[in-house]
Amino acid sequence: MANGRLVEPDLKFIDGVIELGGSSLKKCFQCATCSVVCPLSSEDDPFPRKQMIMAQWGQKEALIKDKNIWLCHQCQDCSAYCPRGARPGDVLGAIRAFAIEKYATPKWLAKLVREPKYLPLLFIVPIILFLFIALLNGTLPPKAGEIRPSHFIPDTTGLDLVFVPLSILLGVALFKSLSRFWKDISAGLVEKPSAYQMLLKGGWWGILFSTAKEILSHARFRKCGASANRTVPHFLLLWSFIGLFIVTGIGFVAEYIFHIELPFPMTNPVKLLANVSAVALILGALMILINRLQDKDAPKTYWDLSLIWIILAVGVTGALAEIFKLVEMAFWAYGFYLLHLASVFVLFLYLPYSKFAHLAYRTLAMVYEKYSSKA
Ligand code: SF4
Ligand code: SF4
Repeated sequence: MANGRLVEPDLKFIDGVIELGGSSLKKCFQCATCSVVCPLSSEDDPFPRKQMIMAQWGQKEALIKDKNIWLCHQCQDCSAYCPRGARPGDVLGAIRAFAIEKYATPKWLAKLVREPKYLPLLFIVPIILFLFIALLNGTLPPKAGEIRPSHFIPDTTGLDLVFVPLSILLGVALFKSLSRFWKDISAGLVEKPSAYQMLLKGGWWGILFSTAKEILSHARFRKCGASANRTVPHFLLLWSFIGLFIVTGIGFVAEYIFHIELPFPMTNPVKLLANVSAVALILGALMILINRLQDKDAPKTYWDLSLIWIILAVGVTGALAEIFKLVEMAFWAYGFYLLHLASVFVLFLYLPYSKFAHLAYRTLAMVYEKYSSKA
C-alpha cells in the first residue's frame, strides 16, 4: 500500500527495463550498500537503492520524473560492491531510456530512431536527398578535375538547406521535451523563486557556470572508481564535438559573411582544429566501444551500442573522404563524403531520441539539482 492505495506495478515497464540491460534488477535485496558507495549520491536524496525497489515494483511514472536517474553516470562503483551481483547503474540506464521515450516529441520520429529495423531507412532518406540535390545542381556524376566536396553537393544550396531546417526542427522538438521534463522534476518544489528573482540574485549565472564547469572538466566522471577508464574517451568525445561545433560555426560565418570559399586549406588553424577534433572523435568512440565490448556484464543492446556506432561512422567516413581526396581518387572521395553526410544526418536525428539525449537531460538534471538547493 502507498498513501492508502495499492501500488499498481507496470509489468511491461519491468520487462522493458530487463530487456534494455537491467536484467539484474530482481537480484536486489535492498541492503543499501549501493547508495553508500555511490560517489555521486547525496546524503539528502541518496540513490540508487530507492530506484531499485521502485523499478522492482514497476513504478514507471515516478521513476521517469526522478532527477536522480540522470545524475548517475553509470560508473559501476555500486555494481562492484553489490553483494548480490546486481548492476544498479545499468538499471538506471534502462530507466533513462524510458524517460527519453516518454518525453520524446514527436513520438513517431523517436520510434524510427529506437528500432533497429528502421536504421537502413534513416540512412537511405538523406542519401536520396543529397543525390537529388546533386542532380538538380548538375553535378551527378561529379565533374572530372579538382576534387571538392562543395562541387558535388554545394554548401549553400545543399548542406545548409538540409541541415539548418533540420537543426531548427529538432531543436524545437528537444526544447518541448525538456520543458515537460523540467515541469515534472520541479513539480515537488514548494518554493520556486521566479526567473527574475534568480537573475537578480545572480543565481542562474552561478548555477549555469558551475554546471558547465563540471561538465567540461568531467568532474563527476573523475569521482568514479570501478570504471575510471570511461573518463578519457568520454572527455575526448565531448571536446571533439565542441571542436567540430566551433569549426562549423566559423565555416558558416566565413561563407555567409565574408564570402570565403570552403573548405579551408590544410594549414589553416580552423582546418587543423577540424582534423584534431575528428581524430579525437574516432579515438574516443573506439575506446568506448572496446571498453563496452570487453566488459562481459555490460548491456550490449541496440539502445546501448547504436549511438557509438553512428558516431564512429561519422568520424571514419569523414576521415576516408578526406584521405581519398588527398590521393585524388574521386569516386571514393565523393562516395565516402555522401556516406559522411548521411551519417551526420542520422546523428542529428539521434540527439533528441537516443542515448545521445543524455547530453541535454543530464545537464538539466544537474542544473535542477543546484536550483532546488537554492530554492
Ligand atoms: S547494493 Fe545491491 S542488493 Fe544492495 S540495495 Fe544496492 S542493488 Fe540492492
Ligand atoms: S553507477 Fe555510479 S553513479 Fe550510478 S548509481 Fe552506481 S555508483 Fe552511483
